[in-house]
Amino acid sequence: MRRPFIAGNWKMNLDRSGAVALAREVAIQARRFDYIELAVFPPSVYVEAVAEVLRDTSVGWGVQNVYHRPNGAFTGEISVAMLQDLGCRYAILGHSERRQHFGETDEEVNRKLLAILAGGLVPIVCVGERLDEREAGQTLDVIRRQISGSLAGLSADQMSRVVIAYEPVWAIGTGRACDALEANRVCGIVRSTIGGIFGEKAAATVRIQYGGSVTEENAHELISQPEIDGGLVGGASLSPAKFAQIVQAASVIAQQTRYT
Ligand code: PEP
Repeated sequence: MRRPFIAGNWKMNLDRSGAVALAREVAIQARRFDYIELAVFPPSVYVEAVAEVLRDTSVGWGVQNVYHRPNGAFTGEISVAMLQDLGCRYAILGHSERRQHFGETDEEVNRKLLAILAGGLVPIVCVGERLDEREAGQTLDVIRRQISGSLAGLSADQMSRVVIAYEPVWAIGTGRACDALEANRVCGIVRSTIGGIFGEKAAATVRIQYGGSVTEENAHELISQPEIDGGLVGGASLSPAKFAQIVQAASVIAQQTRYT
């Protein structure tokens, strides 16, 4: 049984007081909605302030990126040990904005993933095709390449702690979410690719989020798909009211379909 997981990626938004206020709202919502896992990803400079708010709640927190080396002359980077110091439970890895703007490769995602797993944190590994790749009929090739490259060298035990986010790049921040049936189909491919590498048990248990213009309006349809185990939410996670509706949709689905 896979526990639905909703994650709010705040990206490079908010200031300190805005981040604290939003964390307070999410903590209040979390008390109303059971059955799901919930986490937020503030800008790393605000993680400590957000952690103060969320410490005794069911809401987890994490970062949007990390560096794989433990310490040293890596100006501007943050290590896994620093995340542990901040009480982070999660890290987003390989987000398309990092791949696109900072040239992050599957090899780098893989190094970060191994470091995060060694540190006992839960990684959310993002995969997804660009529009030109989709239009060229390359979606499945891209997904398979990203999965096998990002997850290279993991044991089945390590794989059991990994969460995947399928995020078609063309759907991120565009207001144009992927059709729910198509998102379900690609998430099914992600699952079977993982099964091919790590075996049936890994395929059956890995949680796969959908991300890309998830809103309070489309969340129910997307998250109720059988291959989709929650959402990685960007823009809508900055609105307490919208995020609450998305969390509620996931909680209702979890209650109705997976926990009864
Ligand atoms: C994201 O940041 O991962 C994302 C999916 O953004 P949005 O929900 O705004 O499309």
